[in-house]
Amino acid sequence: MTITDLRPTDDTLELRARVRAFMEEHVYPNEPALNREDEAADALVERLRAAAKEAGLWAPHLPPEAGGSNGSFLVYAHLNEEIGRSVWGQLVLGCQAPDAGNGEILWHFGTDEQKERFLKPLVAGDVRSFFSMTEPEVPGSDPTTLRTRAVRDGDEWVIDGHKWFSSGAEGAAFGVVMAVTDPDEHPHKRATQIIVPADTPGVEIVRPVPTMGHRGRGWTTHCEVRYSGVRVPVENTLGEVGDGFRMAQKRLGPGRIHHVMRWLGQMQRAFELMCSYSLEREAFGGPLAEKQTVQNWIADSAAEIQACRLMTLDTAHKIDQGDEARVEVSLIKFFAARVLHDVIDRAVQTHGARGLTDETPLAAMLAMARGARIYDGPDEVHRMVVARRILKSFAAGDAWQFS
Ligand SMILES: Cc1cc2nc3c(=O)[nH]c(=O)nc-3n(C[C@H](O)[C@H](O)[C@H](O)COP(=O)(O)OP(=O)(O)OC[C@H]3O[C@@H](n4cnc5c(N)ncnc54)[C@H](O)[C@@H]3O)c2cc1C
Repeated sequence: MTITDLRPTDDTLELRARVRAFMEEHVYPNEPALNREDEAADALVERLRAAAKEAGLWAPHLPPEAGGSNGSFLVYAHLNEEIGRSVWGQLVLGCQAPDAGNGEILWHFGTDEQKERFLKPLVAGDVRSFFSMTEPEVPGSDPTTLRTRAVRDGDEWVIDGHKWFSSGAEGAAFGVVMAVTDPDEHPHKRATQIIVPADTPGVEIVRPVPTMGHRGRGWTTHCEVRYSGVRVPVENTLGEVGDGFRMAQKRLGPGRIHHVMRWLGQMQRAFELMCSYSLEREAFGGPLAEKQTVQNWIADSAAEIQACRLMTLDTAHKIDQGDEARVEVSLIKFFAARVLHDVIDRAVQTHGARGLTDETPLAAMLAMARGARIYDGPDEVHRMVVARRILKSFAAGDAWQFS
């Protein structure tokens, strides 16, 4: 086993300090206004995005030749922990899900024409996009059961299907739609990813599906979408026909790590709020910080956050080296999703009723955290992936080892 130094270099530390300063100056003070999710908030987002570009911090998930500001996954992990401290950070710095994942997939697999037409305005922040895979009628955990069909008719695909949880579809310019193109193929070769402009006749954004009591607006929506006889040119095929699942893995692997990087920021922020408040608030003759239960929450949280951080950096490093890191990605996805929830929940508990108000960011953070155990694969599926790989190795006579 090689031990790699995952600590940030001086350059990364300097860049991270600039991101932190940007968040402190531009994002945290504007959170209450952004949370209102109205027209004024939309205009504010645009002003803040201009400031991020001006500061040279725009789109840190992509290299400069793709329109971004950074090429290393490991460096992005360090930056994203700062960006993720606020749910608005990713949107303001132009690296929000699902656009970041769509941008990466277009960068790696798009044709020159697709890059010009779809990637360029996406990375510039002029348009948003969505990723349309999950369907209400079949289990998203097992996408080999997808029903949305794309049938070839001359130079066009004709798409019919029903999706939901297409995040950010309201107001987006285009979606990447996963559709079955050959139902008779091997289950993992049946589907293809197709770029669908949102204004194509037959695309209907039925409704944003309210989640945890939140309708959302634009980027924060999770939409039900119907595709009825939607015609797009075959040039809109992303990658090869039948390669939809392979590309979804390419997209979702790094995408899951993007999430975990941001969750680290959320965990750390909740942790800091818990520590500060426990020193301030007194009950039964002394500060909460002196109660052993609270000390246990603080110690457990510190250990779990640091474990998540090191696992994330290790995975990011492996991805930088060209490794798909399938086990590491699944491991950190389910582990960090639980830590995220538990740390925020402990911070809420420490704050008592105040933890449920909007006077701290904790209540909103807790609501967002619950979805983490479901989106991009529920915990149970990631555990299954990890256990299967480990057992396969044992069955072949090799004890499992991390590289
Ligand atoms: C906030 C949010 C945003 C999302 N954004 C998008 C998006 O932009 N685009 C998109 O296409 N989708 C999106 N999704 C959908 C998401 O990817 C799916 O919800 C997820 O894949 C699970 O699919 P499902 O909801 O159909 O649950 P199902 O597949 O029906 O599973 C239900 C439950 O069954 C259990 N289960 C499943 N398989 C197993 C197993 N093998 N062993 C044990 N238990 C199991 C799990 O507990 C799981 O939660 C989003 C979801 C959320 C919550």
